[in-house]
Amino acid sequence: MTKVGNSAASRDKAFYLHPYTNLKTHEEVGPLVIERGAGVHVFDDAGKAYIEGMAGLWCTALGFGEERLVEAATRQMRKLPFYHAFGHKAHDPGIDLAEALIRIAPVPMSKVFFTNSGSEANDTVVKLVWYYNNALGRPNKKKIIARQKGYHGVTVAAASLTGLPHLHRDFDLPIAGILHTDCPHFYRYGEEGETEEDFAIRLADQLEQLILAEGPDTVAAFIAEPVMGAGGVIVPPATYFDRIQPILKRYDILFIADEVICGFGRTGSMFGTQTFGLKPDIITVAKALSSAYLPIAGVMISEPIYQAMVRQSEKIGTFGHGYTYSGHPVPAAVALETLKIYEERDVVGHVRAVAPHLQDGLRRFSGHPLVGEVRGVGLIAGVEVVADKATKAPFDPKLAIGGHVARFAQEHGLIVRAMGDTIGFSPPLVISPSELDDLVERFGKALDDTL
Ligand code: PLP
Repeated sequence: MTKVGNSAASRDKAFYLHPYTNLKTHEEVGPLVIERGAGVHVFDDAGKAYIEGMAGLWCTALGFGEERLVEAATRQMRKLPFYHAFGHKAHDPGIDLAEALIRIAPVPMSKVFFTNSGSEANDTVVKLVWYYNNALGRPNKKKIIARQKGYHGVTVAAASLTGLPHLHRDFDLPIAGILHTDCPHFYRYGEEGETEEDFAIRLADQLEQLILAEGPDTVAAFIAEPVMGAGGVIVPPATYFDRIQPILKRYDILFIADEVICGFGRTGSMFGTQTFGLKPDIITVAKALSSAYLPIAGVMISEPIYQAMVRQSEKIGTFGHGYTYSGHPVPAAVALETLKIYEERDVVGHVRAVAPHLQDGLRRFSGHPLVGEVRGVGLIAGVEVVADKATKAPFDPKLAIGGHVARFAQEHGLIVRAMGDTIGFSPPLVISPSELDDLVERFGKALDDTL
């Protein structure tokens, strides 16, 4: 083995394979090592402070220093550090969390299945959708329609649902039976003379044509994030889901809401489902469920799906799916405490109250020469930079302008995320109005530096 320096950066480059990273660039630039966090800030190993404008990866909703979560984890670790729920075993944190989630579900739901990540939740959903249709004696009704630019994770089935080419290319994905329909981004894909409402009608029409072309008897489910996150913070037209949902009903197609980012207050309601008037049959949750202090995620299913699964598991002898850590008691205890805090502190009300500081603040840059569109709702937002404001022409992707903006922001002590040329914002939900104003001001400096 070649000699490795002692610094964190040298050892990182020597040993650490980074997720979602340009590996060649990383060999050159190395890591930004984050050492600690407090409130909405994180601090690097040189002591520099950053506003965490993305709450990590859209997840540390309560910020970085919530002692109650530390205590909840410690208490549970001392009492019962692990137990599982296979067969007929159970433990209190798992039962309590399942009950809490079903009680706050935005539409009537029957049961929760726990996973460790959003990817596993969506992978589980694919299997449940297949299992359900086999239970109903519909072996051909298996295809799942997702959307271009939708993000649902990285495991084999979840990455297949994701509609981003770099998650498929050279991984030999998507798997068979996963289809993608159009992305509801009016600014990018609306046609000349079309209103947002016309656009929503056209997309719904295209979805119906796809279902008819495939054969409605072969299409099992449709999956959507209420607001697309990693695809570039895309807020659909107001009537988009109103147009889509009757089509799904017409052809007996399940609706899966991926609430991994939107769940627990991000859009200004407890769930994106409420913000956009959705009626899903299945909901996946993760991230803010535990404010990301420990990994835990879940799949909520409706009563008819549960009943079909009961019949099928009786026939087969078991419901043959589950992770060692499904509903691990320690993250479950942390998630339960997180939900209590959301309620006690009215975090959703807080998001509504402070959201204008982010949304209106960023919209002030609409006139900036680099800015094509500012979009968002609640405490999620995206700013898309373009080469030509009038024509909306994008920059040559090789220039990686979004990445430059994010790097300038970092210099100004703000962490944001570039998704292509859209800069994403998803700060901790507990952020104060003055911290949001500060975030917006730092971002403005980064935009100016990029000019
Ligand atoms: N679904 C959505 C909407 C997401 O944003 C993500 C992650 O960003 C996932 C699923 C996958 O979650 P995880 O990274 O926990 O596997």
